[in-house]
Amino acid sequence: MRSLRPIHVIGGGLAGSEAAWQIARRGVPVVLHEMRPVHPTAVHKTGQFAELVCSNSFRSDDADGSAVGLLHAEMRRLGSLVLHTADAHKLPAGGALAVDRDGFAAAITAALESEPLIDIRREEILEPPPEWDNVIIATGPLTSPALADALRSLTGEAALAFFDAIAPIVHRDSIDFDIAWFQSRYDKVGPGGSGADYINCPLTRAQYDAFVDALLAGEKTAFHDFEAATPYFDGCLPIEIMAERGRETLRHGPMKPFGLTDSHRPGQKPYAVVQLRQDNKLGTLFNMVGFQTKLKHGEQARIFRTIPGLGNAEFARLGGLHRNTFLNSPKLLDATLRLKAAPRLRFAGQITGCEGYVESAAIGLLAGRFAAAERLGETPALPPPTTAHGALIGHITGGHIETIDKGPRSFQPMNVNFGLLPPLGYDPPRAAPPAADGGLGPRNSGKKRALCARALADLEAWIVGALPHAAE
Ligand SMILES: Cc1cc2nc3c(=O)[nH]c(=O)nc-3n(C[C@H](O)[C@H](O)[C@H](O)COP(=O)(O)OP(=O)(O)OC[C@H]3O[C@@H](n4cnc5c(N)ncnc54)[C@H](O)[C@@H]3O)c2cc1C
Repeated sequence: MRSLRPIHVIGGGLAGSEAAWQIARRGVPVVLHEMRPVHPTAVHKTGQFAELVCSNSFRSDDADGSAVGLLHAEMRRLGSLVLHTADAHKLPAGGALAVDRDGFAAAITAALESEPLIDIRREEILEPPPEWDNVIIATGPLTSPALADALRSLTGEAALAFFDAIAPIVHRDSIDFDIAWFQSRYDKVGPGGSGADYINCPLTRAQYDAFVDALLAGEKTAFHDFEAATPYFDGCLPIEIMAERGRETLRHGPMKPFGLTDSHRPGQKPYAVVQLRQDNKLGTLFNMVGFQTKLKHGEQARIFRTIPGLGNAEFARLGGLHRNTFLNSPKLLDATLRLKAAPRLRFAGQITGCEGYVESAAIGLLAGRFAAAERLGETPALPPPTTAHGALIGHITGGHIETIDKGPRSFQPMNVNFGLLPPLGYDPPRAAPPAADGGLGPRNSGKKRALCARALADLEAWIVGALPHAAE
C-alpha cells in the first residue's frame, strides 16, 4: 500500500479520540496530540483520553423517541469507538446510557494506544505548523489559551467566543397562537424580513410583576471556580441580573412592548412583550430574544411557562452562560467542517458549536471520516439532513439563521434535538417555514418514531451508497 502522510488531530477528548479512531479505520495514519497530563485544563483530572469532565451520562438511549438516542443508534451503526466503549462500560440508569467513567476512559485510551496507525504525542500545540496539510482541531470548550490566540488571529476577534450566552429555544408548534402573534417591531421589514418575523407574547402589568418576582426568587446555577473571574459582557447580561437592576429594566430591554400591536386584542396595549425569533432555516425553532440566564433548568421551564402563549412550551434548549471556546461556525466553516480561510484546518467537537459528550463525539466521527476521505483522494460524502448526524452538522455549518440584532452573537451551542430535523413530508429545498402542524408535535411520540425510522433508513442508504467502507 502506498504510504500516506499522517493526519494531525489536536486534542484527545470525546471528539479527537473518535476522529483519530475513524481515520485509522480507513487505513490512514494519525498523529494524536494531547496536552494532558503535561498541561492540565481547569476541569480535567486525568491524562486519559475522552475523560468525562462532569456527569457520567450520555443521556437517553431511546432510539425511537429521543434525538440523542437516535444519535447513539446512528453512531453505533457507523462504528463509533465512543459509543461501543460506552456500551461495554454501561451502568444501570433506566432509559439513559450512563457509564463507569474510569473504565470508559481507560478503555478508549487502551484502544487508541494499541492502534498501530495512531501515534500519540503528549504535547500542547500552540499553533498548527504550516507543513501539516490535513489537521483536525478538537480542543474543546477549554482550548489552551495559546492555541485560542492563534485561532483568533486566523478567524478574527469576533469569530471566536470565550463564553456562551444561551437563550432558551422553543418548538414553534408548542406555542399558543390564540395568544401570541407574528409581528416585527414597527413592522420593519429589514434585510430579508417580512415585517412579521417575530413571535410576540404579551404580558399585562400584573403578569409582568409576577414574572419579575419569579425571576428574582428563582434558583440560579453557580459559576464554576474557573468561570467566576470572568465578568459579564455588555449585551449578554442574564435576565435575572437585569431584573435585579430595577423592576422596569426588562421592560426597557428585551421585554419592551413598543412598536407592537396585539393582533388578537388590538385595543389593549401590552405592558411588556417577550419576543421569539426564528432560529433555524426550517422554521421549527424560535429563540427567546435576550433571555440568556443562569436560572436552573427546572426553574426556567416553570417560570417561562408563565409567559402568556408559552403555557405549554416545549424547549429544544434551555438557557445558560458558561466558559466555552467556540467558533462562529456557520460563517467560518465549509460543509465538511474546514475553515474556509485555511482549508487544511478542520474543526471537530464542542469548539464547532455543538454541545455535550455525544454530539462532540459524533462531530468528531464525521470530521475523521471527512479528513480520511480527503487523504484517500475521495470526495467526502455528507450525511443526509434527515439523520441526526446530518441535522447536527447542518446546524453547525449553515442551518442557523444569523441575526442582525444587537446582543450576544446569535449562533450558540446546541444539543441535538428533533427541531433540527426536517419535518415529515419535508421536501428540500424549501424557503418558507412549514405549516404549524407540519413540524414535530413535541409530545407526539408517533411523529418522533416516524422521524427516527426515517433517519435510520436514510442512514442505511447513505452507508450503502456513499460510504462503502462504513460497514468494515
Ligand atoms: C465544566 C464542564 C461541565 C460539563 N458537563 C457536561 C455534562 O455533564 N454532560 C455533557 O454531555 N457535557 C458536559 N460538558 C461539555 C463536554 O465537556 C463537552 O461537550 C465535550 O467534552 C466536548 O468534547 P471535545 O472533544 O470537543 O472537548 P474535550 O472533551 O474537552 O477535549 C478537548 C481536549 O483537547 C485538549 N487540548 C486543549 N487544548 C490543547 C492544545 N493546545 N494542544 C493539545 N491538546 C489540547 C484538552 O486537554 C482535552 O483533552 C461540560 C463541559 C464543562 C467545561
